[in-house]
Amino acid sequence: KLHNTILELKGNIRVFCRVRPLLSNESGAVSYPKSGENIGRGVELMHNTQAYSFAFDKVFDHSASQEDVFTEISQLVQSALDGYKVCIFAYGQTGSGKTHTMMGNPEVHDLKGLIPRSLEQIFQTSQSLISQGWKYKMQASMLEIYNETIRDLLATNRTSVQDGVVSKYNIKHDANGNTQVSELTVVDVRSINEVSSLLKRAAQSRSVGKTQMNEESSRSHCVFTLRIFGVNEGTDQQVQGVLNLIDLAGSERLNKSGVTGDRLKETQAINKSLSCLADVIFSIAKKDEHIPFRNSKLTYLLQPCLGGDSKTLMFVNLSPESSSTSESICSLRFAARVN
Ligand code: ADP
Ligand code: MG
Repeated sequence: KLHNTILELKGNIRVFCRVRPLLSNESGAVSYPKSGENIGRGVELMHNTQAYSFAFDKVFDHSASQEDVFTEISQLVQSALDGYKVCIFAYGQTGSGKTHTMMGNPEVHDLKGLIPRSLEQIFQTSQSLISQGWKYKMQASMLEIYNETIRDLLATNRTSVQDGVVSKYNIKHDANGNTQVSELTVVDVRSINEVSSLLKRAAQSRSVGKTQMNEESSRSHCVFTLRIFGVNEGTDQQVQGVLNLIDLAGSERLNKSGVTGDRLKETQAINKSLSCLADVIFSIAKKDEHIPFRNSKLTYLLQPCLGGDSKTLMFVNLSPESSSTSESICSLRFAARVN
């Protein structure tokens, strides 16, 4: 049976698919995208003698570079400077390339992901608009949501993991749609040097997390937020944009047998928040009256940046290993649902 998705832009939600290359220690590649297309629109794969076919707004195959991917989203990033609220998500199983797509290695030019490239572009553009009277103020924050609990990834005084886990991070939205998370570290970004030190701090904080929290980072959502306040001193125009770049928790299903206690609770929390996200995006696309933002921390946090005239892009990341095919089909179905 052929699973076909109608390719159609629904409102401001778009879905891109990215298949990473086979790593040197892996074997058994499945070729997903339609033959020989570096950037196409179709994904086809076989599983248990069944053929599956999906279509998205864009599909990047293994040969697409970080720059190729950024080129396709740079307009969207730019719109945050024009006052739009933008969310870009990476969805997929652990090991499918979400963090590579979002962060990559900020210190190696070819490996920089969307976060460093977006910051650099926004920063450079804001500088070039000074001559037209624009003055921008930018503030960054980065947090992790693990088991419905928020952790501050930019806190400098995070002496132990426990310090990061405090119930003080309350989410509040004001009447203007501005979000405040109480006591969350907010860093002013005033120069390109501040951008790179910010990214180092964030990367460090996540890698500390990796050893201490025993790979919990793959089971938490990481939300990078850049707030942009622009004022034109000639015309008195004001803009306020937000760019959210979200590396979602791994979407893989666990072998149900033998999973108990904390691990079970954790898996349920991930499943719940990922399906809440799909529900929210789905009801926005259907223009439902009631959108269930409050059903998870992630959707509540992002509420003002989803729906309305905001712009949302979902990356579905896929691993090319044949052993990942069934997870890939799950990811593709998830993505097809929100597209
Ligand atoms: P995830 O965050 O989804 O768990 P990662 O981004 O950590 O996955 O990717 C898993 C591995 O694959 C990493 O070693 C990463 O460097 C590598 N990788 C992912 N995507 C690419 C890509 N497009 N090109 C080269 N290597 C990649
Ligand atoms: Mg990751």
